[in-house]
Amino acid sequence: MLPNISVQACGLILICLICFFTFKKQSIVLRSSFIYRYLLIVTSVCIMADILSVIGIVYAPHRLAVAGCKAYLFMVLWTSFFSFNYVCYDISGKKRMKMLRWMFVGLTFVWSIAVLFMPINLHNEEAVYSDGMAVNFAFILAPIYILGALALTFVFSKKMNPYRRNSVRIWMSLEAAAALIQVNRRELLLIGFMMALGVTVLFARLENPEAGIDSRTGAFRTHILRDYLDQLYDSGEQQAFIIISGSEDIKDDPDVEDRLLRDVAQYLISLSDGKVFRGGGKDFIVAFPSAEKAEATAPEIARRFRSNWLEDLYIAPNFMIVPDISVFANSGEFLSLYRYYANLSVSADDEFRVLDVKALEELRNFRLMQREIRDALAEDRVEVFLQPIYSVREGAFVSAEALVRLRDRNGGLIMPGKFIPVAERSGLIEPIGDRVFEIVCALIRNHDVKRFGLRYIEVNLSVVQCENKSLAERYSGIIDHYGISPQSINLEITESGSIKQNRVLIDNMENLRNFGCSFSLDDFGTGESNLNYIVNMPVDIIKIDRTMTIAYFDNDRARVMLESVTGMIKQMGMKIVAEGVEEKYQLEALSELGVDYIQGYYFSKPIPVPEFLTFMRNSIESA
Ligand code: C2E
Ligand code: CA
Ligand code: CA
Repeated sequence: MLPNISVQACGLILICLICFFTFKKQSIVLRSSFIYRYLLIVTSVCIMADILSVIGIVYAPHRLAVAGCKAYLFMVLWTSFFSFNYVCYDISGKKRMKMLRWMFVGLTFVWSIAVLFMPINLHNEEAVYSDGMAVNFAFILAPIYILGALALTFVFSKKMNPYRRNSVRIWMSLEAAAALIQVNRRELLLIGFMMALGVTVLFARLENPEAGIDSRTGAFRTHILRDYLDQLYDSGEQQAFIIISGSEDIKDDPDVEDRLLRDVAQYLISLSDGKVFRGGGKDFIVAFPSAEKAEATAPEIARRFRSNWLEDLYIAPNFMIVPDISVFANSGEFLSLYRYYANLSVSADDEFRVLDVKALEELRNFRLMQREIRDALAEDRVEVFLQPIYSVREGAFVSAEALVRLRDRNGGLIMPGKFIPVAERSGLIEPIGDRVFEIVCALIRNHDVKRFGLRYIEVNLSVVQCENKSLAERYSGIIDHYGISPQSINLEITESGSIKQNRVLIDNMENLRNFGCSFSLDDFGTGESNLNYIVNMPVDIIKIDRTMTIAYFDNDRARVMLESVTGMIKQMGMKIVAEGVEEKYQLEALSELGVDYIQGYYFSKPIPVPEFLTFMRNSIESA
């Protein structure tokens, strides 16, 4: 009679397929995947032993059959152990689990050897099965492991990723059900098949290596990066990372983008033993075994990016390096720090930004300041100071610049240099800008500043605000709401090479100018000074930056430049403000040069509104 091994044979075919798809892919980075591979091997051997033992009972001499059956029991124990181990690792890959794990290895070892020396009875009647002490003994520990693993998924329910947790529960339940049936109906021989089914569930839901790989690039997907980092933090293993944060240059053509990303990924994979992960967007994160290795590779990467990709595509990504992951508390902190720096503008050169304790500190300060701004907005602690602006021709103050400050809880002042950059990067500049604008409009209405000879108040606009399509409508709405004349507002914008929405900016400016507001170009003579701005921007006033004012007096070239620029600006029909005038000689020389307006500490620092009103009152009285 041919023994009934069809169920086990199905199991064997199933697990062979799973093995094929698992081992076909070489690249693995997660420890759980290593353990899964062991589990697969042990389970396969177990199923084969199962089949052989059944065949042995029917055909082989008694002693050989006994040996086969015991080998099967031996494998059942080890398979159960590896299942348990897989679940334990999932719950905690931490080092402290190591000891415990070795204890279980010891237990399984002793138990499985003991089983080999125990008596066993083989049955080959209407059904083929075995029983006796060895079988009973094996089927004490195996279910303990299975049920134990199942129990762990409930005890550590919160610690486990819910998706993994559920998959593991399905798997363990299958094995537990099989064991339960088999204990009562020895002849059914379901265990092997259920084992194969269990690892298939794991494969389908968790361990399919293809699922962890981004098919577009061949790099690991972002969620694998997270798991990998978690694993490093759990085990305390040190690794270094290089982050290449994609450039925005190539968003137009998805086909080109695909090919480019693939090329970049393949290049990085060739450098790093294949440990390349996708970050968010077009980012790649490359793992290196040590800081030295990462630091040695960094210049090579930078060099590669200096030359072209595909046919003639050049990209300038944001390079970052993480020499020591232990400065971050966990993977979350690592990832949020990297994203924070990835969003900063790309540095001009191909320097690698080091993400270390200092960078982390900066992020913390950024968050604290964000908090501070939010609170200040909510608790109405945004204040506006005013700095008078003097007209050389009229010999009087004809305008003032509104400069924002935050009042902290202790009554101290937070200066804009500290919080404006943070606000610009976290979307808070708009509520701040709106608040400042309303304060200024209210001031113009409530104090009728015209009676002091003030023609307009200058209000700073950040580039970020100008990129918002609704700016012109909102601001003209506020002006109407306060019932003030649009001519009493002058908006200061800063030249900026980084401006992305030039069209929107110009539209906003034109709409507001048509409405009646005027514009100043702020900070002229700093940074990426570009005469084009003066030519192309619809502005009425150019504000010479303080650094330029200073340079005028101690640098011959700056003097020549300011002299000719002043002439040009005047010829184009615009007015000039010199900022940062602190000394009388500066006032005199700049007046001589033809500057129309003077702003600076020489006359007054920016001061709170009541002081400013007093200042203006005194100035017209003394005139
Ligand atoms: P800014 O627009 O160039 O403003 C002039 C800055 O120079 C002010 O600094 C002012 O206090 C300072 N200043 C004026 N005269 C002198 C002087 O004679 N000597 C020296 N050493 N400094 C002088 P503040 O108030 O700290 O503002 C810094 C920057 O913050 C501003 O530079 C502006 O870019 C930004 N800011 C201020 N208020 C706002 C605002 O409401 N919205 C936006 N978006 N930015 C603002
Ligand atoms: Ca300004
Ligand atoms: Ca300025």
